[in-house]
Amino acid sequence: MGNCIFCMIVRGESPAFKLYEDDICLCILDSNPLTPGHSLIIPKSHYTSLKETPPLVVAAMCSIIPLLSNAIMKATKSGNALLTNACACMCKTDSFNLLANSGVAAGQVVFHTHLHIIPRNENDCLWRSESSQRKPLKQTHEAATLADEIREQLSFPDKRRPGSSSCGNHEEPKLSGDE
Ligand code: 5GP
Ligand code: ZN
Repeated sequence: MGNCIFCMIVRGESPAFKLYEDDICLCILDSNPLTPGHSLIIPKSHYTSLKETPPLVVAAMCSIIPLLSNAIMKATKSGNALLTNACACMCKTDSFNLLANSGVAAGQVVFHTHLHIIPRNENDCLWRSESSQRKPLKQTHEAATLADEIREQLSFPDKRRPGSSSCGNHEEPKLSGDE
């Protein structure tokens, strides 16, 4: 994808603070962080969103979360020589959010799959408004119908498997019975 900013970073055509790299994934510091240490795990191949990303790639992305989050936690917790004392104090954390914005309505802005690792502090108040909008799930007919509909969708995994849309950005893994 020629003009995708994350593909450009993967190709070394756009600068980024690279934290980690393997055959499938790259981890970089977010250029507009919500908190210090806010990082992104991105696949090296272009997939538009999480639902277009092959399960094996998602698995590779998820498998490095413990390694990366621990390193980010330790680095932010121990402070940083470049931070002032006040800022280093604000950054001490052993908590983080793992976030995937998938689709416009979910706030996705860069249409190259990525996971956010966002270090958190007790009083940073991120997403306070969303938590106040939650309502308990009641044992209603609507809730039961919704669960039924999702289970029905899950019962046709071959037709709806990730990567089966016609985005054309990657090779379809062949499943037995495709012939
Ligand atoms: P999302 O698409 O999930 O809303 O978030 C995209 C994220 O990518 C944002 O947090 C944004 O700050 C980050 N971002 C956008 N452009 C760049 C870039 O050129 N370099 C880096 N390192 N991060 C970027
Ligand atoms: Zn891309």
